[in-house]
Amino acid sequence: MSKIIAVTNQKGGVGKTTTSVNLGAALATLGKRVLLVDIDPQGNTTSGIGVNKADVANCIYDVIINDVHPKDAILPTRIEGLSILPATIQLAGAEIELVPTISREVRLKKSLHLVKHMFDYIIIDCPPSLGILTINSLTAADSVIIPIQCEYYALEGLSQLLNTVRLVQKHLNTSLQIEGVLMTMFDARTNLGIQVIEEVKKYFQQKVYQTVIPRNVRLSEAPSHGESIITYDPRSKGAEVYLELGKEVISSE
Ligand code: ADP
Ligand code: MG
Repeated sequence: MSKIIAVTNQKGGVGKTTTSVNLGAALATLGKRVLLVDIDPQGNTTSGIGVNKADVANCIYDVIINDVHPKDAILPTRIEGLSILPATIQLAGAEIELVPTISREVRLKKSLHLVKHMFDYIIIDCPPSLGILTINSLTAADSVIIPIQCEYYALEGLSQLLNTVRLVQKHLNTSLQIEGVLMTMFDARTNLGIQVIEEVKKYFQQKVYQTVIPRNVRLSEAPSHGESIITYDPRSKGAEVYLELGKEVISSE
């Protein structure tokens, strides 16, 4: 059985891309067949996993706008079992181009349906907005992972996100679930992080992952080398926690 998970939060810089790349790499390392889907026009997942955007013939834009078969856009990565459906800046036009089209919310769902059987997990890295690309992701997904940064105002904007999830559940995807809430960039040297985790747990209860992602310099260095943390520095704390998260995701099945 395969599962499509959207990593989403309309706030930028909370760890969506870091989580998509490294959870994807962790699941592949644990023996799963994984597809990363980059649906952020910034294409950080694409470059972060080592794909040179200049070499991309077909990207997610061609798949959802021009009906290119996803098989003709998916590329392998250096990690066995991990593939990517890349994004380039071309995707920036999609928000506007999709507006007048028929079935604009279900484009991604229809495309991923064609390749779903080839993977155990499909992980979608969402853009930092609640626009049509995020709606496509929530419509295509079985569940969502919400990364939350351990900072003041962590819960700010979450009611908007949850409202969007509810609207998608009501109108487009009745079976959409919340897979889990992931606390990111935890700093053990301050009390703030612990307070924020407590607050988020009051709100989401057992949906909050046991695994907490600490601030780890190696995690922020890896993308500039086009690598996941698992290959960049397998002995780092970052690699350890994302593997832990991978196991937690698998064990929740
Ligand atoms: P988003 O995709 O939500 O915008 P990113 O995953 O790109 O967020 O993270 C924002 C920035 O923070 C990036 O520069 C990334 O390398 C860095 N970062 C993310 N998670 C961590 C972490 N746990 N420790 C240190 N740096 C991190
Ligand atoms: Mg991102």
